[in-house]
Amino acid sequence: MTRIYDISRTLSPSLAVWPGDMPFSFTHSLRLRDGAAVNLTTLTLSAHTGSHIDAPYHVVDEHIHPADLPLEPYIGPAHVVTIDRRQGGIVPDDFAGRDLAGMQRLLIHTWVSDLPDDRWPDGFPYPTVELADWLAERGVRLLGLDSPSVDQQDSQTLPCHHRLYAHGIANLENVRLSGVPDGVYELIALPLKIAGICGCPVRAILRTPASRPRSDG
Ligand SMILES: [Zn+2]
Repeated sequence: MTRIYDISRTLSPSLAVWPGDMPFSFTHSLRLRDGAAVNLTTLTLSAHTGSHIDAPYHVVDEHIHPADLPLEPYIGPAHVVTIDRRQGGIVPDDFAGRDLAGMQRLLIHTWVSDLPDDRWPDGFPYPTVELADWLAERGVRLLGLDSPSVDQQDSQTLPCHHRLYAHGIANLENVRLSGVPDGVYELIALPLKIAGICGCPVRAILRTPASRPRSDG
């Protein structure tokens, strides 16, 4: 039987956001209880609120926006792998001994998933360019994290963002993998079709069973 794991953070005014970024909020422009025909709400949010994808425009001026992203990376088989690392750069050795045969997408599960939506993860683990290169060699299309960024929080040069985009690897950030056993699932986390912006929230889910992709060695 198919099971769906919702791995999205809940967008609400209490959701923790990147320090200094615009908090999520909404207002009512119309209300039923005031006699209007409908409730009508207006959202204010950063493009990087909750579980979201980054568009390459986030770090390269001439690069593309969510509306132009190829969709293939955001839908298909994904390996969920738990690692012990609590902070610092995630390297290929963190996955030693894991069965990664046929991996097309990788979602890294760490302690950060256990934080409630209103807690910001100080000192989160983040991938290294070495890991990005290793994923590219394996033909991986998407890297997903429970951490809120593919670079260190105080990085000004964002090396892993740049390296992932150079390899054509999409990134999905700030998902919540608590309660999801390691294994292979079908990921669905489609970008919203919005032009001109640097990323967007997604409703990220994992669906079972995923037919195990054939390994090409
Ligand atoms: Zn982001």
